[in-house]
Amino acid sequence: MTDRKRILTGIRPTGALHLGHYAGALENWVRLQHDYECYFLIADYQVSDYADDIPRVREAVWEVALDWLAVGLDPEGSAFVIESLVPEHAELATLLGWFLPVSMLERNPTLKAEMAAMENPEDGSTERKSVPVAFYTYPVMQVANILMPRAHLVPVGEDQLPHIELTRETARRFNRRFKEVFPEPEALVGRVPRLVGIDGSAKMSKSRGNTIDLKDDAETVARKVRAMYGGPPRAANEPGRCDDNPIFLYLRAFDPDTEGLAELEREYETRGVPNKVLKDRLTKVLNDLLDPFRERRAYYQAHMRLVRDALASGSERMRRIARETMDMVHDALDLNYL
Ligand code: ATP
Ligand code: MG
Repeated sequence: MTDRKRILTGIRPTGALHLGHYAGALENWVRLQHDYECYFLIADYQVSDYADDIPRVREAVWEVALDWLAVGLDPEGSAFVIESLVPEHAELATLLGWFLPVSMLERNPTLKAEMAAMENPEDGSTERKSVPVAFYTYPVMQVANILMPRAHLVPVGEDQLPHIELTRETARRFNRRFKEVFPEPEALVGRVPRLVGIDGSAKMSKSRGNTIDLKDDAETVARKVRAMYGGPPRAANEPGRCDDNPIFLYLRAFDPDTEGLAELEREYETRGVPNKVLKDRLTKVLNDLLDPFRERRAYYQAHMRLVRDALASGSERMRRIARETMDMVHDALDLNYL
């Protein structure tokens, strides 16, 4: 047995992972994976907004696992878990739902924003969708995910903070009313709490089609960067404000040469620097970051058996803990009938 503290965190299998996932969350997972006992969850119960496209979800389960391996997560040390292979999650979510007032969901700002976007899509192209019951209650499922391995730390992007707060509140209520079962988990937000999209909009997001994916090849990255929004129109030698140009947000997030970047920022604000120069620099920075990911991804793609084994053994590991936790929960609630 190990006495390391536990991490639980996850991603929905709805598509390939992008730089926002990396800077907001994954980077921390890689950094902390050996200091904590980690459970990384592919949250396939939480895809009700993709329920009319199950083939996409099935494929994305593999894509997500490949992306995790690509960024350097080690499936020997950490458990890669498919949520639905541990159906105890659904049971725990149901039981916790007994004790959570609906008002806590009504107040949740992330959920509110996501439901509003679903009912009134910004781009006008997709039709208005009604919100499935499972979408409304997905934060409760997330609470169950985090409490299941009795996790201490949850490394996530900023948009997930309300869900972690809900989890802490749930743990407190449960422990106070029944038995001390759950630690109160802390959130840990990544170096870039919310990476903007390449269109300059507030969040890089699959659903907005404004991503640079971890698996994009060098040419695709170059093309996407060329097309990136580079701030208000400006002549090449006209000074601009770095804060108005999202290319700088990306350079600040990913360029390891901080001194060179500071110099470039001064030059941009005093003499002006053409966007082409910034974009060429960013393309190189991103391709240098992604190259080792691409290499590892290619290896695992040629050895899918290893990916399968990682998911099977990780889910089994989680299942053992889940049974342990559910025993504790049944005992605390006095639900052992026979
Ligand atoms: P998307 O946001 O691309 O539609 P998603 O919402 O389906 O993807 P999640 O599974 O909710 O993806 O997110 C996985 C993790 O990545 C979460 O911790 C989330 O906060 C983080 N994350 C996602 N997008 C960003 C971003 N643009 N900047 C920072 N963190 C992000
Ligand atoms: Mg999300």
